[in-house]
Amino acid sequence: MSKVLHDLKAIGKGLATTFRSMLEQPVTVQYPEEKRPVAKRYRGRHVLRRYENGLERCIGCSLCAAACPADAIFVEAAENTDERRFSPGERYAVVYEINYLRCIFCGYCEEACPTEAIVLTDQYELSFETRRDAIYTKERLLEPVPPEGQPTPQKTPPGVFVRSIPEDLTDFPVWKP
Ligand code: SF4
Ligand code: SF4
Repeated sequence: MSKVLHDLKAIGKGLATTFRSMLEQPVTVQYPEEKRPVAKRYRGRHVLRRYENGLERCIGCSLCAAACPADAIFVEAAENTDERRFSPGERYAVVYEINYLRCIFCGYCEEACPTEAIVLTDQYELSFETRRDAIYTKERLLEPVPPEGQPTPQKTPPGVFVRSIPEDLTDFPVWKP
């Protein structure tokens, strides 16, 4: 008899939990229509940034590649000229690739970058069907030209963009051809 009472009590307890949760708000999120905000310090897909004048911040120095513990970044630099300028200073990244099959989203590349060119964003929708698709090229990583800026390469006046790393990264001269 005591066993029957014990079982009934257990069933009652279980049903009480069921009824209680029926009154609670559902926790299911209807992804992809509905998206949860990510944590403030979430590290997702990278973006290569530009200055307000449209010049690329990346100067092809490869410090991000050197800092990457997963060997996920490949950078190849080339020379800038005033006739054909991609970034301030002597060099720019002619090739910039991140292999997302290797990346562990540690953020070391962002920390190492002297011009705040490479940053991790809160975008987490990364899916690929082939190995080649998992390698994001410079064209995919580079942010669009800002409204006040011009696309690269730009023709710039001599002696204006001589410093690869401007003194103030937020206040770089806006120059329009
Ligand atoms: S987030 Fe980390 S693993 Fe990914 S590319 Fe940057 S340094 Fe490499
Ligand atoms: S992203 Fe930054 S660290 Fe990497 S090559 Fe460009 S300027 Fe150098």
